[in-house]
Amino acid sequence: MGSSHADGSAIAERHRSKHREATADTAFGGWIDGERRTDGPERGIEDPVIGESIVEVPQCDIGDVDGAVDAAWSAFEGGWTDASVRDRSKRLFEWADALADHVEELTLLECLDCGKPISQARGEVEGAIDTLEFYASAVRAHRGSEVPAGDDLHLYTTQEPYGVVGQIVPWNYPLWAAAWKLGPALAAGNACVLKPASDTPLSTIRAAQLSEGIFPDGVLNVVPGSGSDVGQAVAAHEDIRKVSFTGSTGVGSGVMHAAADRVAPVTMELGGKSPFIVFPDADLEKVVSAVADGIFYSTGEICDAFSRAIVHDSVADEFTERFVEAAESHVLGDPLDEVTTMGPLTSGEQLETVTGYIETGKGEAELLCGGGTPGNPALSAGHYVEPTVFRGVTNDTTIGSEEIFGPVQTIQTFEDYDEAIELANDTQYGLASGIGTESTSLVHRTADDLDAGLVYVNEYGPIMPDAPYGGFKQSGFGKDLGLEALEHYQRTKSVYVNLDEPEL
Ligand code: NAD
Repeated sequence: MGSSHADGSAIAERHRSKHREATADTAFGGWIDGERRTDGPERGIEDPVIGESIVEVPQCDIGDVDGAVDAAWSAFEGGWTDASVRDRSKRLFEWADALADHVEELTLLECLDCGKPISQARGEVEGAIDTLEFYASAVRAHRGSEVPAGDDLHLYTTQEPYGVVGQIVPWNYPLWAAAWKLGPALAAGNACVLKPASDTPLSTIRAAQLSEGIFPDGVLNVVPGSGSDVGQAVAAHEDIRKVSFTGSTGVGSGVMHAAADRVAPVTMELGGKSPFIVFPDADLEKVVSAVADGIFYSTGEICDAFSRAIVHDSVADEFTERFVEAAESHVLGDPLDEVTTMGPLTSGEQLETVTGYIETGKGEAELLCGGGTPGNPALSAGHYVEPTVFRGVTNDTTIGSEEIFGPVQTIQTFEDYDEAIELANDTQYGLASGIGTESTSLVHRTADDLDAGLVYVNEYGPIMPDAPYGGFKQSGFGKDLGLEALEHYQRTKSVYVNLDEPEL
């Protein structure tokens, strides 16, 4: 396993200087009714590489959520509801352009806040912009329908926004996740109140500030704060007509309960424990790289991580050998370095969770590589963990069944097709799945049999805004992305126009 060569104090100095650069011109805090909210108790936003605060962010409270919801309704009823589709589309494009003018600034914030390698942070910021552009375009082509109903009835459908919608996002790809929700919601004509994750609000706050003068005040509101106060207030708010949540299954279920009390619809993007089936004819070079990308991208802090490799007996040894090599080839280091391929986990709490699972795994299966924190003293202040691989894992073990959300791969084997499918589907989750094979018919048959909302064949991703994204079973329901997400932010109305006989 490689690591960057800078020493710890050089990394710390460089980060402190980047903290100043990234935050110099901006007062972070809530963005409510087109204004910065910069009072309130402050929370230090930790840089997971050096364990120091990047900047203090004033936190919103329940009163701010009320204020944001009121502002959103005023904006909605004060004109946003009547804005033409063309107007909404143009404003979304303008916002996307404003973000594009600040890609490096947003990338730096994302990199510092999440500890994500800078190339990945840049890719996600660009992905956020692409998502906004997709919805700015798609909404222009979106339309209702006419229902053939006979000569005396003109029957058609229209789509209307909900009004004010609430959105709650996680810490693992903050701006991209926010764009997945804001893009379709704003395009559909809603006003939004979005709560970023407590640990990683910076890029989203800055992106909201960059919308100044583009959307009418109150159309886009961001309320940073804790999940238990601000998140819960968004989930339970009487005047929020729809809630879209991305996060853990446990918290998501609580959000559903809160929304159910007022019969508000919800979209749930939740956890995963995604399998990748490697068939005997797989091109191992392609497939090892796909599975390794799938579990090690973003230090494994990604909901659709391929955390379970299910490999045919006949190729298991070769796959395992190559996979361990791929794991060990990662360069752990300062995420600001372009050569770094794996940064730290995003928080100390997550480091504790992941290392806890690794310790449990040592008693459940055979550890092949990793299994600890890196020896490089330059990284000792950060929340780093080595890419880790276990073999001999079964579905009834803790590491084989629970979402770890870190760079920990489990490898298990199968003998025949039915066993592969049974192992893959034997989980409470159903977010993503993967298939490694060169056989077209096997691809289609397996894609049919996998009980998951996403199927990747011979690769991991790329995730595109054009296609719906979301899981089955306890991975959630409803979709982010694609035209489906636009529909989820709209209500359909059927209009029956009875036509009289012409009297001429
Ligand atoms: P989390 O559930 O702890 O938090 C998600 C968001 O909910 C955060 O903004 C948090 O502050 C807020 N929250 C916490 N308690 C709340 C409450 N009581 N009421 C309302 N909101 C509350 O999840 P996380 O740790 O931020 O993210 C990791 C999880 O998210 C993993 O399980 C991962 O699989 C999942 N995830 C899923 C997807 C997907 O698309 N399916 C994408 C990313 C992450």
